[in-house]
Amino acid sequence: MTELPPTAGLPLRAGDLLPWGDADLEGHLARWLGVPAVQLTCSGTAALLLALQVLRAQTPSRDEVVVPAYTCRLVALAVARAGLRLRLCDLAPGTLDLHLPALQALCGPRTLAVLPTHLCGLVTDVAGPAAVARAAGAWVIEDAAQALGARVAGQPLGLQGDIGLYSLAAGKGLTLYEGGLLVSARPALRAALREAGPRLLPPRPAWELRRSLELLGYAACYRPRGLRWVYGQPLRRALAHDDRVAAAGDDIGADIPLHAVGRWRRRVGVRALARLPAHWQAAEQRWQQRRNRLMQAGLPVLGDSPAVPAAQGVRPLLLLAFPDAGLRDALLQRLWGAGLGVSLPFAATLADYPPDAAGLAVTAEGPLVHARVLAGRLLAITNSGWLDEPGFEALLAQLLEGLGRVRAG
Ligand SMILES: *Cc1c(COP(=O)(O)O)cnc(C)c1O
Repeated sequence: MTELPPTAGLPLRAGDLLPWGDADLEGHLARWLGVPAVQLTCSGTAALLLALQVLRAQTPSRDEVVVPAYTCRLVALAVARAGLRLRLCDLAPGTLDLHLPALQALCGPRTLAVLPTHLCGLVTDVAGPAAVARAAGAWVIEDAAQALGARVAGQPLGLQGDIGLYSLAAGKGLTLYEGGLLVSARPALRAALREAGPRLLPPRPAWELRRSLELLGYAACYRPRGLRWVYGQPLRRALAHDDRVAAAGDDIGADIPLHAVGRWRRRVGVRALARLPAHWQAAEQRWQQRRNRLMQAGLPVLGDSPAVPAAQGVRPLLLLAFPDAGLRDALLQRLWGAGLGVSLPFAATLADYPPDAAGLAVTAEGPLVHARVLAGRLLAITNSGWLDEPGFEALLAQLLEGLGRVRAG
């Protein structure tokens, strides 16, 4: 029995784990991305918290943060921890882009920041939301947590907004098990982030030890046999309890660990980063072929935003958008726990999670029509190289058979 991961994370090699070597991960990332500097944090959530604190200090009268209604719950957690008010913005119909009329209605003198979000490696429109945000005097934070390596016209994500953030969590491509990055095209903001970083993220050896052991665990288990134990079993247990939130990995705690990243994990990152460009290149080829194959079979696969010419996303997964939620749910029922790399990006919009340990109370101010519709219709298929051609064809056959049954029944 094997288990495919839900996304095409970059596997580690034994040689990555050596105790010595170059620890300048920030320098290597900056050169690869082609930016003046990159700031490493202990998670994407910590990066967002730091960004929000720095922007708040610049404009203290502003205390609201506008995010897409369909995004990672850790975003809501960071906003709450920063003492700011979360406001959910609907998505443009059938896309992952912020709905500009909805955004316009949300932005005002209290808006601190707007977060265009590049989900699932797909490039989202930043220019449109940035124009609305700037007209209201608000900052723009590009959430590129899931898109390290994506570019627009050769430029990395995160430079069109005021600050950009990436995640190095397990499953998001390059990983330190947990980690985050900040970039900015603005020298003054880079300096402010650099200055505030060590205060928010001091060295905490116990956390670094824990993360180092977790990274070793990732190196050992991120392969089709190991994933059965560390990913497949907990997933099937959650599904058996009808717990979609846990199954989607959205069962976050209330705590945001805040600490510096140690030298050994930086060294591992430097060595793994050398393989990331080839990893994404191979993923792009698989994605193109399989997207064509799915589209020919009548299954629509979302791509980079049509509002962004020259977008070049990264491809951790194929994101299918079904014509209705019934079809999606029927297929999910059959395939989610089957070890084939089928999953959900998120269980629901931020307004639709049941109350849980994270204690996040997020209220929907408007109907969030399009975000809710899309959240019910999406289904993700892994773009891991471990899903080989026969495996993909077998999965496609299962999808089509499931569709046939639902339509017939
Ligand atoms: C994962 C994620 C984050 C948070 O990143 P972590 O490194 O997991 O803390 C923020 N935004 C989005 C869209 C994410 O997917």
